Amino acid sequence: SESISLFEYTSKITAQQTLDSGMSLVEKATEIAGELEYSPEQNDGRDMTMIPTYVTSVPNGTEKGVYLAVDLGGTNFRVCSVVLNGDTTFDLTQSKVAIPKALMVSDSHSLFSFLAKQVADFVETHHSDHFSEDPEHHLRLGFTFSFPVDQKAINKGYLIRWTKGFDIPDAIGKDVCALLQNEIDALGLPVKVAALVNDTVGTLMARSYTSPGKTGTLLGAIFGTGTNGAYVEKLDRITKMTSASAKDVGEYDTSTGEMVVNTEWGSFDNAVNVLPDSPYDRLLDQNSVNPGIQMFEKRVSGMFLGEILRNAILSMKQDVGLFATSTIAEDSVLNTPWSIDTSLLSYIEADSTEDFSVTKEQLQKDLGISASTISDDEARAAKILVHAIGKRSARLSAVPIAAIVIATGKLSPPAQAPIDDLGLKDLSLVGQGIEILRRAIGGRSPADLSADAPLPDIQDEEPIDIGVDGSVVEFYPGFEEYVREALRDVPEFGEKGEKRIRMGVAKDGSGVGAALIALVAKMQY
Ligand code: ADP
Repeated sequence: SESISLFEYTSKITAQQTLDSGMSLVEKATEIAGELEYSPEQNDGRDMTMIPTYVTSVPNGTEKGVYLAVDLGGTNFRVCSVVLNGDTTFDLTQSKVAIPKALMVSDSHSLFSFLAKQVADFVETHHSDHFSEDPEHHLRLGFTFSFPVDQKAINKGYLIRWTKGFDIPDAIGKDVCALLQNEIDALGLPVKVAALVNDTVGTLMARSYTSPGKTGTLLGAIFGTGTNGAYVEKLDRITKMTSASAKDVGEYDTSTGEMVVNTEWGSFDNAVNVLPDSPYDRLLDQNSVNPGIQMFEKRVSGMFLGEILRNAILSMKQDVGLFATSTIAEDSVLNTPWSIDTSLLSYIEADSTEDFSVTKEQLQKDLGISASTISDDEARAAKILVHAIGKRSARLSAVPIAAIVIATGKLSPPAQAPIDDLGLKDLSLVGQGIEILRRAIGGRSPADLSADAPLPDIQDEEPIDIGVDGSVVEFYPGFEEYVREALRDVPEFGEKGEKRIRMGVAKDGSGVGAALIALVAKMQY
């Protein structure tokens, strides 16, 4: 019958088009991997920008003090103060204003004096006690600035270009911390711009302060509109900072021997093409503003999962008559690119009803498909697609997490030998991905560990702490469990390694995280 073929077709595309490849469809993945001619010369895996952040330590929860944090994102400017209580807890007070559109395309004085004014209002309202002549009592501020900058010190970063609709030509090439500081000084405020902050680093710091136990957090990861991660690396492995030929390196504190690196992992696989690919991914990429780049992000983050689903539904609609007899609203977002919110996937994934009533209601609410005209099999088909897309996102999220944990030697002892012979051909698709990621971060390979070398007695009970943030990881049902399932499938992890991963949501990376970076910056100058 028609409905059975519809169901079969759904299973077929989720399997054969590798929508659900991740690590579970090992056979399919291996098959595709075999077709790829991998050549290390072609690409050394350095798709990821791997930006040194000048943040050289992570908090342990005992930090104390009052700090300011501001966040200039796309649409809003947030000002907050954070009281660190020194016992892993904090109190946060905040205000938020929409940035006037006119200021986004003005000159730097207009924008930054507006920002300074917001800081002034906030300080006057909440911290009038800080109006003191003594610079020792000035409030230190962490500045989360979500645009590309060339960072030269913990509190110095030169704007490379504007994004997200901003266009203020005279700010390009200028140090955005100085732009803000000048306007703050002009208002006579007792505030020092102490640190320039990337939101991923903020997540790492916030988690490290609040996480239980003595172990500092290794990795901060965001799975929201976009995806990115920052982790703690040994200084001597950050050749951009330390090699003899490293250029343009600013001053930083070398005493900890570590620095946080912002991986920009969303751009992983820009050129290598080891990620699972489907017609729906390809269509999405073609219709995106940046075809061929941010390929990892395009399979993982909230901005894209709804569009993959839309492409898959439309394809099934055309090929096998999905929703052919349903009543669909004329203005259904099914016909508008980029308009299905990823929350739809979360609601459908969460549906545990036998008659798919939640799925049907949600399809009506979000896509304007009249619920009573959706058959059980159509709802089930939509649910299968959603599950495949969501689970794949989670399993792929495990790839950079696994790569970083392995490459930083948290699971196995540090390797000695260089990694030039990786035998990538024998690895699954995702295994290749991990190898490439590991190379990108200059990693150590299990190939380095010769089989007969005894493994040193490592503290295998010590937890490996990871802070996460973003609506996808927070709200997609079972996301963390799928990440864990994928980690268990990585041979180096197994169940034992996976159990050591301690993951927790670090809320307010741009608030408490920025405050903490302002604090660690204090130790540097
Ligand atoms: P941002 O990353 O912009 O700081 P969020 O972490 O809230 O903000 O991420 C927003 C993204 O998360 C959007 O792409 C949105 O579609 C998606 N999203 C929002 N709600 C949910 C949900 N309940 N489940 C899964 N994804 C969601």
